Amino acid sequence: MSFLRNLLKPSILKSRTPFPFSSSTLYYKTYSTPASVTTYAGLEPTRPDEKPRVVVLGSGWAGCRLIKEIDTKIYDIVCVSPRNHMVFTPLLASTCVGTLEFRSVAEPIGRIQPAISTEPGSYYFLANCSSVDTKDHVVHCEAVTEGAQSMDPWKFKIAYDKLIVASGAEASTFGINGVHEHAIFLREVHHAQEIRVSEEEKRRLLHCVVVGGGPTGVEFSGELSDFIMKDVHQRYAHVKDYIHVTLIEANEILSSFDDRLRHYAVKQLTKSGVHLVHGMVKDVQPDKLILSDDSEVPYGLLVWSTGVGPSPFVKNLELPKVTWWKDWH
Ligand SMILES: Cc1cc2nc3c(=O)[nH]c(=O)nc-3n(C[C@H](O)[C@H](O)[C@H](O)COP(=O)(O)OP(=O)(O)OC[C@H]3O[C@@H](n4cnc5c(N)ncnc54)[C@H](O)[C@@H]3O)c2cc1C
Repeated sequence: MSFLRNLLKPSILKSRTPFPFSSSTLYYKTYSTPASVTTYAGLEPTRPDEKPRVVVLGSGWAGCRLIKEIDTKIYDIVCVSPRNHMVFTPLLASTCVGTLEFRSVAEPIGRIQPAISTEPGSYYFLANCSSVDTKDHVVHCEAVTEGAQSMDPWKFKIAYDKLIVASGAEASTFGINGVHEHAIFLREVHHAQEIRVSEEEKRRLLHCVVVGGGPTGVEFSGELSDFIMKDVHQRYAHVKDYIHVTLIEANEILSSFDDRLRHYAVKQLTKSGVHLVHGMVKDVQPDKLILSDDSEVPYGLLVWSTGVGPSPFVKNLELPKVTWWKDWH
């Protein structure tokens, strides 16, 4: 179902061409037009032999209810909305936790009013209305563009005989700093998708990565694995298949210990489910590590234990210092 592509981010123009290339109704901007001269694509006023055009701004509860009930023998319908489907908001919360699938709460506009896909004078535009000229009975619109921030949105205008403004309301933030940047508004399907943690994200969040196979790293990995094998498997069985421990070491595990102890540690760690990786970390990002061979290791918890050096305080002390340990290493 092509409308599902738009659930994540409303962006792609509907499969049917939104700009009817009929010479009588269309005048459009060409890219060779000088920047100062702006002409628009769009729909011109209806002629007396055409059905009156009802332009509906928005595809929410109000807009869709109207679109559904309108008599398409009398009117042509043009819907302008950045969303090509209606969201059944009372069930949106259930999709966040997986009780319902996202597609169960979204209905494509073409299914609510089939005339939009079948009648020659009815259209859906994936666009935002930016202003209304009530004097000339025209709405100014900007097409929604996805992933093309540098591209100016395509501007066009649509003449209307009747106009329905059903563009909904804005979430209240009371001007509190940071709400827009850090909070999710539960109003659209893509908000619910952001809230619902994907399988991949679950694995990442429960991936504990330890860097450094010295005594600290080995002991911690072992303890963590014991905790997972015993407590997590017993008490939190629903996440047991997602939680993993990886120990990354550039050389050898417990390199300063003797061979027998090293082999024993490797055997015990492997037995308790620790994934041992021989690799060198070259970059640490907020949710993943990059190894020197460019492979990526996503993580939720990162513990760093790659050895120690002198503290800034000791380094800055104007006292004679031994250097033999450097050669020894
Ligand atoms: C999670 C949740 C649960 C809810 N549960 C209930 C409930 O149980 N019972 C109840 O009565 N109400 C409930 N509501 C409230 C109900 O959804 C709203 O009252 C209703 O959606 C309002 O309808 P509307 O058509 O005015 O706006 P909306 O449904 O918000 O629709 C607005 C439409 O306009 C479009 N639009 C926005 N700007 C523009 C623009 N510039 N140009 C063109 N189009 C534009 C939007 O994309 C959208 O399609 C719930 C709301 C939410 C978020």
